[in-house]
Amino acid sequence: MLTGVSRVPVRRDLADVPAYVPGARAAVGAAAYKLSSNENPFPPLPSVVAAIADAAVDVNRYPDMHATEFGEAVAHRLGVAPESVVAGTGSVAVLGHVLTAVCEAGDEVVLPWRSFEAYPIAVTLAHARQVRVPVTADGRLDLPAMAAAVTPRTRVVLVCTPNNPTGPAVRDAELRDFLAAVPRDVLVVLDEAYVEFVRDPEAPDALALFAAHPNVVILRTFSKAYGLAGLRVGYAVARPRLASAIRTASTPFGVSHVAQLAALASLRAEPELLTRVDAIVEERTRLLTGLRAQGWDVPDSQANFVWLALGDRTTSFAERSAQAGALVRPFAGEGVRVSVGEREATDIFLEFAADHAPH
Ligand SMILES: *Cc1c(COP(=O)(O)O)cnc(C)c1O
Repeated sequence: MLTGVSRVPVRRDLADVPAYVPGARAAVGAAAYKLSSNENPFPPLPSVVAAIADAAVDVNRYPDMHATEFGEAVAHRLGVAPESVVAGTGSVAVLGHVLTAVCEAGDEVVLPWRSFEAYPIAVTLAHARQVRVPVTADGRLDLPAMAAAVTPRTRVVLVCTPNNPTGPAVRDAELRDFLAAVPRDVLVVLDEAYVEFVRDPEAPDALALFAAHPNVVILRTFSKAYGLAGLRVGYAVARPRLASAIRTASTPFGVSHVAQLAALASLRAEPELLTRVDAIVEERTRLLTGLRAQGWDVPDSQANFVWLALGDRTTSFAERSAQAGALVRPFAGEGVRVSVGEREATDIFLEFAADHAPH
């Protein structure tokens, strides 16, 4: 029994922060494919499961606070200095640490919208103000408009590429123009959570841009292509001075020992994991082609999901899709995001979508 009512005030701006809505899960006993969280449909490789089991015997100890071996392996893989890599509990957490490290109260953060729903939350928690720039009708980031939205108060611009939930990636040429237009003291965060799924030959090489522009930070994750969403490992690549500030803003011992060893095992197994990514990309093509053949207008997706702009039909469509056996992620009044999953899941969703296709 609790006695008394809490009179402790909470931050007033939290009232305006929409809660993060996790993708729907199947009810216990119900059979439905989970296409609602952009997860990797493949279970972890045996070598990764073995690394997790090995790590389990050490969990009475704190992990290596700076995930040194992990950082060195990532740095080696990417061809950057180890001090440029900052690990965190998923790249969502790392984004929060980046914003905390650079934003003062009232600073502006320019971001695309509709984009990743964690952005408004992270920006508000960092005491900054979000400036939303609408994506184009075909779900692309409007980089010229984003550059034009930069003011003397702007500290950060978030570039989500491929954009979650609409799917397209930015092009190298437009991103170079954008970087040329943005002042050098404004941080440009390239959120590349889905970079391994990109097949557009015109997509940027973020590491080359990072090398050329000291105000660029790259965010990547082991949650999507590497299939470690449940273990929470992501990282930032930043110039050493920024990386050090991001480390200062990070939760101490954030990345568990189990997660560090699983990520290291995943890097060792990368060729095998990237073969799975190829299979998901093939499945994405099948889903996109199938939907377009049914008459759907679907933006070009370079990620492991596709976007259907359903407007007012969104909520009922998502409910019916769940009943048909495919859980998708509705954004009420805007559209649904459908993750690329198992082959049978694509079949079920395509069959369902055919019955609701525009004529
Ligand atoms: C999934 C996702 C992330 C990373 O998620 P974590 O699991 O926290 O690493 C980051 N950005 C975007 C746009 C995403 O969709």
